[in-house]
Amino acid sequence: MIKPDATQKGYSGAILDQIIKAGFSVKAMKWTRLTKEQAGLFYEVHKERPFYGELVDFMSSGPIVAAILEKENAVADFRKLIGATNPAQAEDGTIRKLYAASVGENAVHGSDSDENAAIEGDFFFSKLERF
Ligand code: ATP
Ligand code: MG
Repeated sequence: MIKPDATQKGYSGAILDQIIKAGFSVKAMKWTRLTKEQAGLFYEVHKERPFYGELVDFMSSGPIVAAILEKENAVADFRKLIGATNPAQAEDGTIRKLYAASVGENAVHGSDSDENAAIEGDFFFSKLERF
C-alpha cells in the first residue's frame, strides 16, 4: 500500500516506478480511501499499541494505493525495498528513506508474511479484480 502521506505529496508514480523496476509485477491495483473503521480493521494486530489511534487517523486521512504484487521471495524482497519502519533507520535508496517523513507517516506498507499478504489482498480485492 502507498500510504496517505505519500499519495498527498505526489510520490505515487515514483514509488510505483521503483517497485516495478525492482522486478515486482502488479496483479491488482486501486486508488481508494479507507474509512476509520476500515483502517482500524486493517491494522487490528496493533490494537493494543500506544500508536494505534494515531495510525488509524493517519491511514484514513487521505487516499491510498492498494496493490497485490508478485515476485519470487516477494515479502522479504519488498520489505528490503521499502526499508526500516523508521525512515531515519532505513538504508539509502529504500522507498522509506527517499519518501517517508517519520516512523508514523512512512509512505508505504508491506505485508509481513505470505499468509498476511493473502489476507490483505482479500481485504482490498475481489477475484474479478486480479489479473
Ligand atoms: P507496515 O505494517 O505499515 O508495513 P511495518 O511492518 O514496518 O509497517 P509495524 O510494526 O507493522 O511496521 O507498524 C505498522 C505501522 O504502524 C508502521 O508502518 C507505522 O505507520 C506505525 N507505527 C509503528 N511504530 C510506530 C510508532 N512508534 N509511532 C507511530 N507509529 C508507528
Ligand atoms: Mg507491519
